[in-house]
Amino acid sequence: MTTSEDCIFCKIVRGEIPSAKVFEDDVVMAFMDIYPLNTGHCLLIPKDHYTNMFDVDKDVLAHMARRLADLTRMVNNAFDPDGVLNTIANGSGAGQEVPHLHIHVIPRNRGANFGFRFPDDYREEMANPDELAQIAKKISKAS
Ligand code: AMP
Ligand code: ZN
Repeated sequence: MTTSEDCIFCKIVRGEIPSAKVFEDDVVMAFMDIYPLNTGHCLLIPKDHYTNMFDVDKDVLAHMARRLADLTRMVNNAFDPDGVLNTIANGSGAGQEVPHLHIHVIPRNRGANFGFRFPDDYREEMANPDELAQIAKKISKAS
Protein backbone atom coordinates (compact mmCIF):
# COMPACT_ATOMS: atom_id res chain seq x y z
CA MET A 1 0.00 0.00 0.00
CA THR A 2 1.40 3.36 -1.05
CA THR A 3 0.72 5.86 1.69
CA SER A 4 1.97 9.32 2.55
CA GLU A 5 2.50 10.11 6.23
CA ASP A 6 1.36 13.73 6.17
CA CYS A 7 -1.32 13.52 3.46
CA ILE A 8 -4.76 14.43 4.80
CA PHE A 9 -6.59 11.96 2.53
CA CYS A 10 -4.17 9.15 3.43
CA LYS A 11 -4.99 9.95 7.06
CA ILE A 12 -8.69 9.56 6.22
CA VAL A 13 -7.97 6.19 4.56
CA ARG A 14 -5.99 5.09 7.65
CA GLY A 15 -8.85 6.24 9.91
CA GLU A 16 -6.62 8.76 11.69
CA ILE A 17 -9.01 11.63 10.99
CA PRO A 18 -12.78 11.28 10.73
CA SER A 19 -14.81 11.33 7.53
CA ALA A 20 -18.42 10.69 6.54
CA LYS A 21 -17.93 7.61 4.38
CA VAL A 22 -20.30 6.80 1.53
CA PHE A 23 -18.64 3.56 0.43
CA GLU A 24 -15.28 1.86 0.14
CA ASP A 25 -13.76 -1.18 -1.47
CA ASP A 26 -10.21 -2.52 -1.70
CA VAL A 27 -9.10 0.26 -4.06
CA VAL A 28 -11.22 3.37 -3.50
CA MET A 29 -13.11 5.31 -0.88
CA ALA A 30 -15.95 7.82 -1.27
CA PHE A 31 -16.68 10.34 1.48
CA MET A 32 -18.36 13.69 1.99
CA ASP A 33 -16.46 16.89 1.22
CA ILE A 34 -16.08 18.83 4.45
CA TYR A 35 -16.74 22.17 2.69
CA PRO A 36 -19.62 21.17 0.41
CA LEU A 37 -20.47 23.40 -2.55
CA ASN A 38 -23.93 21.85 -2.40
CA THR A 39 -25.67 19.18 -0.33
CA GLY A 40 -24.33 15.82 -1.47
CA HIS A 41 -20.88 17.06 -2.59
CA CYS A 42 -18.56 14.09 -2.14
CA LEU A 43 -15.10 12.94 -3.14
CA LEU A 44 -13.85 9.69 -4.65
CA ILE A 45 -10.21 8.82 -3.93
CA PRO A 46 -7.85 5.90 -4.47
CA LYS A 47 -6.77 4.34 -1.17
CA ASP A 48 -3.18 4.35 -2.36
CA HIS A 49 -1.46 7.71 -2.50
CA TYR A 50 -1.23 9.22 -5.98
CA THR A 51 -0.87 12.95 -6.43
CA ASN A 52 -3.11 13.32 -9.46
CA MET A 53 -3.64 12.10 -13.04
CA PHE A 54 0.07 12.53 -13.77
CA ASP A 55 1.18 9.66 -11.54
CA VAL A 56 -1.89 7.47 -10.99
CA ASP A 57 -1.69 3.78 -11.87
CA LYS A 58 -3.95 3.20 -14.87
CA ASP A 59 -5.58 0.05 -13.45
CA VAL A 60 -6.45 2.02 -10.32
CA LEU A 61 -7.85 4.79 -12.51
CA ALA A 62 -9.94 2.28 -14.48
CA HIS A 63 -11.42 1.01 -11.23
CA MET A 64 -12.05 4.59 -10.10
CA ALA A 65 -13.94 5.24 -13.32
CA ARG A 66 -16.28 2.32 -12.62
CA ARG A 67 -16.91 3.47 -9.07
CA LEU A 68 -17.31 7.07 -10.25
CA ALA A 69 -20.22 5.96 -12.41
CA ASP A 70 -21.76 4.31 -9.31
CA LEU A 71 -21.21 7.34 -7.08
CA THR A 72 -22.49 9.83 -9.65
CA ARG A 73 -25.68 7.81 -10.16
CA MET A 74 -26.16 7.43 -6.38
CA VAL A 75 -25.76 11.17 -5.76
CA ASN A 76 -28.15 11.91 -8.61
CA ASN A 77 -30.76 9.48 -7.27
CA ALA A 78 -30.37 10.75 -3.70
CA PHE A 79 -30.86 14.45 -4.49
CA ASP A 80 -32.43 14.63 -7.97
CA PRO A 81 -30.48 17.76 -8.96
CA ASP A 82 -30.55 19.36 -12.42
CA GLY A 83 -27.12 17.77 -13.04
CA VAL A 84 -24.01 16.35 -11.38
CA LEU A 85 -20.51 17.76 -11.91
CA ASN A 86 -17.45 15.47 -11.94
CA THR A 87 -14.25 17.47 -11.65
CA ILE A 88 -10.55 16.70 -11.16
CA ALA A 89 -7.89 19.37 -10.61
CA ASN A 90 -4.37 18.28 -11.56
CA GLY A 91 -1.80 20.63 -10.03
CA SER A 92 -2.16 23.93 -8.20
CA GLY A 93 -2.64 25.87 -11.44
CA ALA A 94 -5.78 23.84 -12.06
CA GLY A 95 -6.99 24.51 -8.51
CA GLN A 96 -5.75 21.35 -6.77
CA GLU A 97 -5.32 22.01 -3.06
CA VAL A 98 -5.09 18.50 -1.62
CA PRO A 99 -2.21 16.62 -3.35
CA HIS A 100 -3.93 13.20 -3.31
CA LEU A 101 -5.95 12.38 -6.44
CA HIS A 102 -9.66 13.02 -5.91
CA ILE A 103 -12.71 13.35 -8.08
CA HIS A 104 -15.39 15.77 -6.96
CA VAL A 105 -18.98 14.60 -7.40
CA ILE A 106 -21.21 17.64 -6.95
CA PRO A 107 -24.97 17.92 -7.43
CA ARG A 108 -25.66 21.15 -9.31
CA ASN A 109 -28.83 23.03 -10.07
CA ARG A 110 -29.20 25.55 -12.90
CA GLY A 111 -28.13 29.05 -11.85
CA ALA A 112 -25.81 27.85 -9.04
CA ASN A 113 -22.92 30.22 -8.33
CA PHE A 114 -20.29 27.53 -8.94
CA GLY A 115 -19.44 25.29 -11.86
CA PHE A 116 -17.17 24.76 -14.80
CA ARG A 117 -17.63 27.89 -16.87
CA PHE A 118 -16.29 29.27 -20.13
CA PRO A 119 -16.06 33.08 -20.43
CA ASP A 120 -19.20 34.68 -21.92
CA ASP A 121 -17.34 35.82 -25.04
CA TYR A 122 -15.35 32.63 -25.72
CA ARG A 123 -17.20 31.86 -28.97
CA GLU A 124 -16.51 35.23 -30.58
CA GLU A 125 -13.56 33.94 -32.61
CA MET A 126 -13.29 30.38 -33.91
CA ALA A 127 -9.79 28.86 -33.90
CA ASN A 128 -7.80 28.68 -37.13
CA PRO A 129 -8.01 25.05 -38.43
CA ASP A 130 -4.30 25.02 -39.43
CA GLU A 131 -3.30 26.16 -35.95
CA LEU A 132 -5.56 23.52 -34.39
CA ALA A 133 -3.91 20.85 -36.56
CA GLN A 134 -0.44 22.01 -35.40
CA ILE A 135 -1.50 21.98 -31.77
CA ALA A 136 -3.11 18.53 -32.11
CA LYS A 137 0.17 17.30 -33.63
CA LYS A 138 2.18 18.74 -30.75
CA ILE A 139 -0.04 16.95 -28.23
CA SER A 140 -0.06 13.65 -30.13
CA LYS A 141 3.76 13.66 -30.24
CA ALA A 142 4.10 14.36 -26.51
CA SER A 143 4.21 11.35 -24.20
P1 AMP B 1 -9.22 20.50 -4.52
O1 AMP B 1 -9.29 21.99 -4.53
O2 AMP B 1 -9.74 19.88 -5.79
O3 AMP B 1 -7.86 19.97 -4.13
O4 AMP B 1 -10.28 20.05 -3.43
C1 AMP B 1 -9.94 19.55 -2.17
C2 AMP B 1 -11.26 19.32 -1.46
O5 AMP B 1 -11.00 18.57 -0.30
C3 AMP B 1 -11.97 20.61 -1.04
O6 AMP B 1 -13.26 20.65 -1.64
C4 AMP B 1 -12.03 20.49 0.47
O7 AMP B 1 -13.22 20.97 0.99
C5 AMP B 1 -11.90 18.99 0.68
N1 AMP B 1 -11.35 18.60 1.97
C6 AMP B 1 -10.22 19.06 2.56
N2 AMP B 1 -10.02 18.45 3.74
C7 AMP B 1 -11.04 17.56 3.90
C8 AMP B 1 -11.39 16.63 4.91
N3 AMP B 1 -10.66 16.48 6.02
N4 AMP B 1 -12.51 15.91 4.74
C9 AMP B 1 -13.26 16.05 3.64
N5 AMP B 1 -12.98 16.91 2.64
C10 AMP B 1 -11.89 17.66 2.77
ZN1 ZN C 1 -2.40 10.64 0.22
